[in-house]
This record gives sequence, C-alpha cells and structure tokens, in this order.
Amino acid sequence: MDNFKNKKDKAIRILSEPKDSKLITHLNSCVHCGLCAESCMYYLATNDEKYIPAKKVDIISSIYQRYCTFTGKYFPVLTGSKELDEETKDEMIDLLFGACTLCGRCTKHCSIGVDISYVVRTGRQMLSEMDMVPATLQSTVNAAVQTGNNMSIPTEEFTDTLAWLEDELKNEVNDPMAAIPLNVTNTNILYTLNPREPKFFPLSISAMAKVFYAAKESWTLSTIMYDVTNYAYFTSNNEEAIIIAQRLYDEMLNLNSNRCILAECGHGSRAFRWEAPNYLRKKFPFEVITAVELLAEYISSGRIKLDKELNKEVMTLHDPCNLVREGGVIEQQRYIMKNTVCNFVEMTPHGTENFCCGGGGGQLAMSEYNERRMKIAEIKAEQIRRTGAKVVVTPCHNCVDQLMQIDNKFKLGVKIKTLAEIVADAIILE
Ligand code: SF4
Ligand code: SF4
Repeated sequence: MDNFKNKKDKAIRILSEPKDSKLITHLNSCVHCGLCAESCMYYLATNDEKYIPAKKVDIISSIYQRYCTFTGKYFPVLTGSKELDEETKDEMIDLLFGACTLCGRCTKHCSIGVDISYVVRTGRQMLSEMDMVPATLQSTVNAAVQTGNNMSIPTEEFTDTLAWLEDELKNEVNDPMAAIPLNVTNTNILYTLNPREPKFFPLSISAMAKVFYAAKESWTLSTIMYDVTNYAYFTSNNEEAIIIAQRLYDEMLNLNSNRCILAECGHGSRAFRWEAPNYLRKKFPFEVITAVELLAEYISSGRIKLDKELNKEVMTLHDPCNLVREGGVIEQQRYIMKNTVCNFVEMTPHGTENFCCGGGGGQLAMSEYNERRMKIAEIKAEQIRRTGAKVVVTPCHNCVDQLMQIDNKFKLGVKIKTLAEIVADAIILE
C-alpha cells in the first residue's frame, strides 16, 4: 500500500510541478463540446463513449483537480475530481495506453485547440513514473536501451545481412564497386534504419542503397547506432528517451557526417527531429531531415532519373500521423508519388486529415490490445478498399507492419511498399 502511495505521489508531481504552463492550460480548457468524438477511430469503430478523446483528457484533468486545486483538495465531491487509486490507475492504463495511438487527429479538430495527445502523453508519463507501462511496450524500450536497437539484433547478424544485401546491389546495378558503406567517417549522410528492416524487410535497405548509388551520394550506415526508433517517446519516459536520442547524436559527431537522414519511420522522425533537441537541450550542429524529404530533393534536383512507366499498378498513399500532423511533411510524399507512379489515387480523407493505420502510439508492441487494434483498423481497410489500389505506399515501417496485417485480415489483396521501394523500382541508371 505504501509502495502504491509513493508511486502515486511521484505521478501527481508531474501535474503539481509542471515544467511549463501549457499543461495546466490544456487541463483546464475542455468545454465538453464533443466535437473531437468523430475524430477518433476508437470511438468511430465501437461507438463506445468512453473512447471519446475528451474523456481521455478528463481522467487526467480530474486527478489534477483533486490534488492540485483548492476546491479539489478540500471539497472533492463538489468538483467531480478523481482519486488516483488502483481503479483509476487501471482505467488510465486501459484508455491512455490501450485506446490511443497518439495520432493527433482529435487535437486538430478540437474546437478550442486542446492538445489532447499531449495530455494523453502526460498521463502515460504519470503511469511510467508509477512503473505501470505495459510490459510488452516497456520491453521494446528496454531492448533499445540495453542493446542499441529495439529488436536486439546482434551486430554480427546485422553486418551479415548488409554483406548479403551489398552483393545483391552489385548484381542489380551491374557494378562490382557498388557498396553499402559501414562506419565511414566524413560522409555527407549518416543513414538510419528501423530495426524491422534488417530483421524482416531487408529489401527496403536495398532500395535506399540503390537510390544512393544512383544519386552518387556520399553516405554510410553505422553499426554502433542505426536505430531510428525511440519507443520511450510512446512511454513518455524522458530519461530513457534521452539515452536513445543521445546515442544517435553522438554517432553523428563521431562519424562527422553533415546530414542525419531519418529512415521511413513516423514516430522515429518526430522523436529525433522535433523532440530530441528538447530532450538533449541542444541545437544540433548537423542537419536532420527525413528520407521522404531527401527522395523529393533527389527528384526535384534531377539527381536521380525516373520512369513512371515502370510503376504501372494503381497505387495509393497512407500518411503516417507523425509525419503529417506532427511533422509537417505532407506534400513531399505526393510529389514523389506523382513523379514515380502512373496511377496515383489519394485516400479519402488524406494528408493531415488522414486516419491512423491503428498501429501507432506503440500499439503494435502491446499485444494485449491486438483485438482492439484490428477492430479500429476497419476504418483504414475501408479507406484502402475505396481507392481500388493494388499497392499501398507508406513512408513508415510501423505502418507497413500494421497495413500488412490489415491486408491479411480484411482480404484487400494489396501489396505494401515504402517510398524508397517505389522510387528504386522506377530508377533509370545511366
Ligand atoms: S490521439 Fe488519435 S487515437 Fe488518441 S484520442 Fe486522439 S484521435 Fe483518438
Ligand atoms: S473538441 Fe476539445 S473542447 Fe470539445 S470536447 Fe473535445 S477536447 Fe473538449
């Protein structure tokens, strides 16, 4: 009991000693207009009111009222405030970890601009302080902290995979000098990977290596730190997020590269490009951009030549939430699609209005919520079906994984590809 009280006190301190006034503003602002309800896939797919985004704000706001305001402390019944007890803690886990992908769609639609996903992340931070992060998600963070990548891939396995991919590249481009460089200093680019790539989807590494070859780029991968992901962003454990971000920062300095290119990964891009300078309290002395922006740059500058006729199938695009709503990379992927494929059909809605695939926010790691995750995926399946596309392209390996599961469950008969893959398919080598 004392143990729970100690943990509870640590969690409440996040509300009573906030780092800035933003949190208090967002906890005090909801006017319960209900406009956010229709934004959320969890509510749309189930019609269950407990999943309305404002309810996720309410649970944190009512704890704030109870412990951090005069009326809540002395007249809790009058304020409708909530005790942080075992029951509330379980409700928080279920709603904030189990029923939110941190997609940010509700925030965009809130009538007065409450940053709902920020409040959800604050609730997750409280649970993290209480050691109540679901073990399935925490194990992914632990793997990254302890081994340097979230899939615990041993270095030897990683370098073996790359050696095999390098041989394939030499054959494909018919050049014995073609290479996948490792740990080279003073290159223009340090390229990162989602560990799902060497583990399950090595062809996306080959695709990007072919693009670099065609662009005559000076680039390298690192065996010390290549993991673009940062699952501690999803658990809101800042200490662990800092450890992971610091490693990539250090490796950029160690290899003395000019540009850090973040592999196709929505949350990884957000975590290093937008959150890491805050985690590390540093202005980075190198450039950080996403692979999507780099591909668009190669095309617009004429550095790579493409033939759209090599991608004839009808293709659609799935926008990763962290890239569009939370990252501002919206038009570049459309520019790439229009220059790379013959038949590009947009989903409805798309861009910043797009629905999450259902796998964001760490959902893919939390197997205990699998049934719920695939229930909300009905919405994405229907979006894809309506396009008539045979290929779904997405610049995020988390989304790739979830979209493959959606294809399987809803019998869509589509292939899932990354942007680098369709660019590589359309490249003309001189
Ligand atoms: S961030 Fe997305 S999943 Fe979470 S409450 Fe808002 S709309 Fe729902
Ligand atoms: S739209 Fe904003 S103000 Fe309205 S209920 Fe939702 S969170 Fe509250």
